[in-house]
Amino acid sequence: MILLPCAWCGPRDAAEFQHVGELVARPDPRTASQQQWRVYLYLRANRRGWTVETWYHRMGCRRYIQVERHTETNEVRQASTAGVTGAAGVTGAAGVTGAAESAGPPGATSPAGPAGSAG
Ligand SMILES: [Zn+2]
Repeated sequence: MILLPCAWCGPRDAAEFQHVGELVARPDPRTASQQQWRVYLYLRANRRGWTVETWYHRMGCRRYIQVERHTETNEVRQASTAGVTGAAGVTGAAGVTGAAESAGPPGATSPAGPAGSAG
């Protein structure tokens, strides 16, 4: 069983969540080429080891969290709500705006910063 630390609900079984995917930096829509969009939309690194990914707590608070997880051991090192506002360009998270951020989770330690800087 994988326990994911939801910022609002606490540790929960991963079965309550939907895996959204790796955190991928969104290209600038004003200057991005078709190739950059293709990479952003369809290609994933599928890393072995530590990766930052987004999970949706569909059977809980219905908010998005970012989790740093080891893909082999499923160890979770860090979780946060930073960058889960759609600006991160996380696949499947389009349209996710401010609600999660404005609510302010009780245990949040870092303010929302520029997303996609990981990796
Ligand atoms: Zn939750």
